[in-house]
Order: sequence, then C-alpha cells, then structure tokens
Amino acid sequence: MSRVNLAIIGGGLVGASLALALQAGAKARGWKIVLIEPFAPGDSFQPSYDARSSALSFGARQIYQRLGLWQAISRRAEPIKQIHVSDRGRFSTARLSAMEEGVPALGYVVENAWLGQCLWQGLDKDVISWRCPAEVTRLEPLEGGYRLTLNDETTLECDLAVLADGGRSGLREQLGIGIKHRPYNQSALIANITPSEAHNGMAFERFTDDGPMALLPLPDNRCALIWTRQGMDAQRLADLDERSFLSELQGVFGYRLGTLKQVGARHLYPLSLVEAEEQVRPHLVVLGNAAHSLHPIAGQGFNLSLRDAQALADALLDSEQVPGDFAVLQAYRERQRLDQNLTVGFSDQVTRLFGSKLPLLSVGRNLGLLGLDLLPPAKRWFARQAMGLGTRPDA
Ligand SMILES: Cc1cc2nc3c(=O)[nH]c(=O)nc-3n(C[C@H](O)[C@H](O)[C@H](O)COP(=O)(O)OP(=O)(O)OC[C@H]3O[C@@H](n4cnc5c(N)ncnc54)[C@H](O)[C@@H]3O)c2cc1C
Repeated sequence: MSRVNLAIIGGGLVGASLALALQAGAKARGWKIVLIEPFAPGDSFQPSYDARSSALSFGARQIYQRLGLWQAISRRAEPIKQIHVSDRGRFSTARLSAMEEGVPALGYVVENAWLGQCLWQGLDKDVISWRCPAEVTRLEPLEGGYRLTLNDETTLECDLAVLADGGRSGLREQLGIGIKHRPYNQSALIANITPSEAHNGMAFERFTDDGPMALLPLPDNRCALIWTRQGMDAQRLADLDERSFLSELQGVFGYRLGTLKQVGARHLYPLSLVEAEEQVRPHLVVLGNAAHSLHPIAGQGFNLSLRDAQALADALLDSEQVPGDFAVLQAYRERQRLDQNLTVGFSDQVTRLFGSKLPLLSVGRNLGLLGLDLLPPAKRWFARQAMGLGTRPDA
C-alpha cells in the first residue's frame, strides 16, 4: 500500500485543472499527488472530453494564463466578441460587446477534447502521478486521511481526497453525502453546425417557449449548438434526418447566420440542478460537478468549478498545515460560498425565467431583456456574470 499527500479522483476538466493549479507549489513542498481516471483523454468514452465545447469565461482565461496554459489552449479557442440575446416571438433583444466591456473577448469557445489534451499535456509527471486507466471503487475515512480502493483491488492512502468524479460514480453516496436535486425535465441536444455566413465571433442565446438555445462560435466557422427541449422532444430532434433537423433548427433560430448547412453528430444530456449538501469534511473535498452541476445554457458550470479549483489550490498552498486540515478546507468553502450561490442562482433563474410558458413570466422576461439593453448597470451585471467576473473583487 502506498501513501500520498493528495489523491484526485477523476481526471476530467476539473480534476486535471486542480492538479495543474497545485503542481508548481506541490513540487516545492515535495508533495506527492496522484490523479486517478478510468479513461485517457482522446478516448471517446471520456465523459469530460466528449463531443461538447465549453464557453470559457474571461475569468477562466485569466486562471489558465496564470497556470501557463493559455497559450496552448488559445491555439484552438474562438473569442466571443459579442453576445446576442433574443426572445423568439418578442421584440426584445440585447447585445453585449467585448469592446463596450473593455476586454479583448467576452469569453472563448473551446472544444472539450482540445481542452483535455492541453490539460493532460501540461501535467508535470514528476509531481502528478497518473493511475489511468483506473477507477476508485471504495473510499473510507481513516484517522488523518482516506483509504482508496481501486478496481484492480490495490489500495492507497492519502492526507486529502478530492472527489472530482462528476458525481455519477456513487462515491458521494457511499460517503453518505446527500444532494439537493431539482430536475429541469429538459435535455440538452448538442451538435456542431456549419452556417453559410461568417459568425464573426458572435454568440447567440435565444429563448423560446420550448426552451433556450445557444449557438457559440467555434474555429473554422463552425458553431456549437446547445438546444434545450423537453426530454421526448429532444429525443425526437436527435432522431431526425439531417435535412429535417436543419430545417427545424433554422425555423427556430432564423437566418442571422444565413443558411444552416451541415450538422455533426448529435448528443443528448438530461438536465438537472444537483448540489451536494456537504463540500468539505476533514481530509475530503467534493469538487466540480460532484459538488454542483448546473444547467448548461448560461455556460457557467465549468467556469465556476475552475474558480473553485484555483481557490482550493491557493488555500492548500498558502497554509502551513498538511493537506486535509479541516480549518483550511472550511476557509476554502467559505471563500467560494458567495461565488457559488450567485452563479448557481444566476443559472437557475435564467433557466426558469426564460424557459417558462407562463404569461406573467413571459412578460417578465420581455421586460428583463429590454431592461438589460436599456439599463447599463443591469447589462453590465449580466455581462460580468457571463464573463465569470461577477464576484471577483479585483476585476
Ligand atoms: C451540454 C453541456 C454543455 C456545457 N457547456 C458548458 C459551458 O459552455 N461552459 C461551462 O462552464 N460549463 C459547461 N458545461 C458544464 C461542464 O461540462 C461541467 O461543469 C464539467 O464537465 C464538470 O467537470 P467535472 O470534471 O467536474 O466532471 P466530469 O466532466 O463528469 O468528469 C468526471 C471525471 O471523473 C471520472 N470518474 C468518474 N468516476 C470515477 C471513479 N470512480 N474513479 C476515478 N475517476 C472517475 C470520469 O471518467 C471523468 O473523467 C456544460 C455541460 C453540459 C452537459
């Protein structure tokens, strides 16, 4: 049996980013970190690096810049120059622009597969040892740490276990950590689309009575579509032949990008808001989707988790205590509480307000969008949330 200082369970977007945020400081302190992941990036079954793209906020760029990784990521990151928000069947639209906000871009769209490659290639193998392919099947608290059992029946002990497994592997339940679960009764259909006209860095968020959709700019003049519909309807759209699908999409989205010419593979994700009732225990942190899983339409889930990961790395490296000290973990949790509450609340409210057919809410969202365009402070607040800068005191 071996002992390490930190074991990160799950090498997805969040677990790998935490490893990167820790590695320089860990090297200086002589810490041993192990990263355990069932699938290598590039493996099409890897849940974090599947066919999806992520809208990275400007705040996420700043974090990866600090970690020395932005140059690699930016080689295939499409800058969002403007966001066009509209409500189908109503007059109101709002535009957010990078120029008005005084930033080079409101955010960046990156394919998860590319992001995954950049993250894994950035890991320093002398500090971060990988167990891949490997899966944690059991997690038990010990005096002063945790014992992990892997699927090959080997065990290892650590001072701090970070559960970044996305929340689907059952380890959270094994530890008796409850969740708050609110299903949206919707699925997100994702696919890459090629339009006939240049997207020029414009991202579109469009709200309809049947659910919100987003078309985000990608390199090579492709767009990443996230189309949210009731479960059965999303399945119907996923099953349509290419021509019928594009024609239905065109009907809902309109001709802002000319004709929608081609669609890639379509994938469905059932959506709900899941929040873990505990995020820290002595020698344990729950991180990423395992801690909070949000509706994707506002593009906030990973951005929030990246801020959590950076804050956790800072808290561990700023402390004189061994990793796992409960006071340090509680201080990390307190530091992120406001950011988490605001971001989870923002995504949930946007989803519920704009996803509703109720007449009063529809009027409300119409006013909301108009207000957004007419009232600079409201628009600025929305833009800062979208950029992942909302609660940063220094930004
Ligand atoms: C359609 C869609 C679009 C999205 N778009 C955006 C966006 O534009 N911007 C944004 O900020 N967020 C977005 N999100 C959210 C974002 O994808 C998630 O926040 C992010 O994937 C969470 O990463 P994670 O590493 O916590 O979890 P996951 O991505 O689920 O990764 C968990 C990892 O743990 C591994 N694992 C699982 N079980 C075990 C085990 N027992 N032992 C070891 N390893 C294990 C898995 O193989 C996986 O690699 C979107 C989500 C969806 C569904």
